[in-house]
Amino acid sequence: KTVSDPAGWHQKLGSSARIELSRLTPGISAKFIPTSIPEHHMINAIWKGGSLRSWITFGMGLAILPLALASVGGYLWLHDGVLMQLHDVANRQRTEIDPLQRLRLLILDAGTPLDSFVDESHPHLPPRYHEIAEHVAATFDSLDTNLKSDSSVRPIVHAAELQWRSADKAAEEAMSAPHPPGDSHAAALMDAFHLHADSAVSSLGMVNDTLAKDLRDDHDTVLRDIGRSRWFAAVAALISLLAIVAGASVIGRVISASVERLVTGAELFAAGDRNHRIDVQIPPELNRVAEEFNRMIGRIHESEHALDELAHRDALTLLHNRRAFDDQLKGAIARLDRFDERFGLLVCDLDHFKQINDTFGHAGGDAVLRNTAQLLAAGLRPFDGLFRIGGEEFAAILPRADHAGAEAIARRLCETIAASSTTTGQNEIPVTVSVGVAFARTVEDAATVVERADVALYRAKAEGRNRVV
Ligand code: GH3
Ligand code: MG
Ligand code: MG
Repeated sequence: KTVSDPAGWHQKLGSSARIELSRLTPGISAKFIPTSIPEHHMINAIWKGGSLRSWITFGMGLAILPLALASVGGYLWLHDGVLMQLHDVANRQRTEIDPLQRLRLLILDAGTPLDSFVDESHPHLPPRYHEIAEHVAATFDSLDTNLKSDSSVRPIVHAAELQWRSADKAAEEAMSAPHPPGDSHAAALMDAFHLHADSAVSSLGMVNDTLAKDLRDDHDTVLRDIGRSRWFAAVAALISLLAIVAGASVIGRVISASVERLVTGAELFAAGDRNHRIDVQIPPELNRVAEEFNRMIGRIHESEHALDELAHRDALTLLHNRRAFDDQLKGAIARLDRFDERFGLLVCDLDHFKQINDTFGHAGGDAVLRNTAQLLAAGLRPFDGLFRIGGEEFAAILPRADHAGAEAIARRLCETIAASSTTTGQNEIPVTVSVGVAFARTVEDAATVVERADVALYRAKAEGRNRVV
């Protein structure tokens, strides 16, 4: 029976209430369905409501999340923090350091044709110098554009460029005309060139040192970041692994506990326990198995009960039959032995029943049997047991009846039946019964009680029927 539970007993008692009820009333179990779920039970409800598949999906997602985040984060980090920086380092090497080195070499190279010209005044030397000087100017220009962002070294490069221009001016003047050997003006111009060129080269050397140091620092940072990203990936993989192990073990434990309960329930059922009910709430798949199993046990219990009834009841009179009589008699003897509870036994046989069958047919005889059964049942006490133990033979077990009481009951039954008749169609069929009474006061008595009641019945028949002996 399903009941509503406004007082929230389900929450207070849990499954213990169900177990107690099913123990009290075999075959009946009560299920409390809460009318509303309190908020603090919501998470519980979601946990219990999710299917096994959704648990596993959720658990796997949770386990893989650190790895996925580490992959995305690692990619972004590697891309922006490592690859871009490496690219930047390489680019700066190419656009800043290399031209700087080249520029220094070119400025130093430019001195060679100048020196030779002052010594020899050979006409092919000025064009060589001009070629180098053009290169120097062009490299200064490109360096100026490449260094646009690097404001700290640009003033030094500018200063070097000015020094170069001064050196270049001295060189141009020195090469404007051939010089006689040992010309002091030419020597002074050459010295001026070398002075300015050297300071330009040394300024560029300073710039080179500063940029090279920055580059080294950036390169070190990139290497450190690569090392860190390795650690980061390792930690993420470890977290994922732990999450997978933890998730698998939680799900495994829950499932194995539920399966254990199912197995125990099945074993108890196999051992004959029909009152045990399996309580498995999670996962829902196993909960359904448990509920189906419980329903099946209930149905089996009911059909066993029905079969038992069928085996112990007589179809014609609906009284208990000979088998039930034997069981009850055993019970009565056990109670006598255990509690000293004596009992009386009546055996009733319909008189000349064969004639009734012969006169009114088998159906008439059946009607008489049914009617007699009802009269006997009505004449007994509520706790007496009445049985049809043979064709037209009935027995009654009278617990705690004394000698006089049992005989009085037997007489009353005998008189009632003799005074009544069974109506079938047009016919009124009278019938009488003979009753044998016996008592069991001790266990030894009880062993012979049926036999003695039978002997008494035969005597009642022999003495003329319709009587109690
Ligand atoms: P007595 O007074 O000596 O007991 O005579 P009786 O005719 O009652 O005894 P007997 O044993 O000779 O006959 C019993 C009859 O009961 C025989 C049988 O056909 C009939 N009988 C047994 N079971 C049923 C039944 O279920 N229905 C009907 N209609 N008759 C039955
Ligand atoms: Mg008989
Ligand atoms: Mg008879």
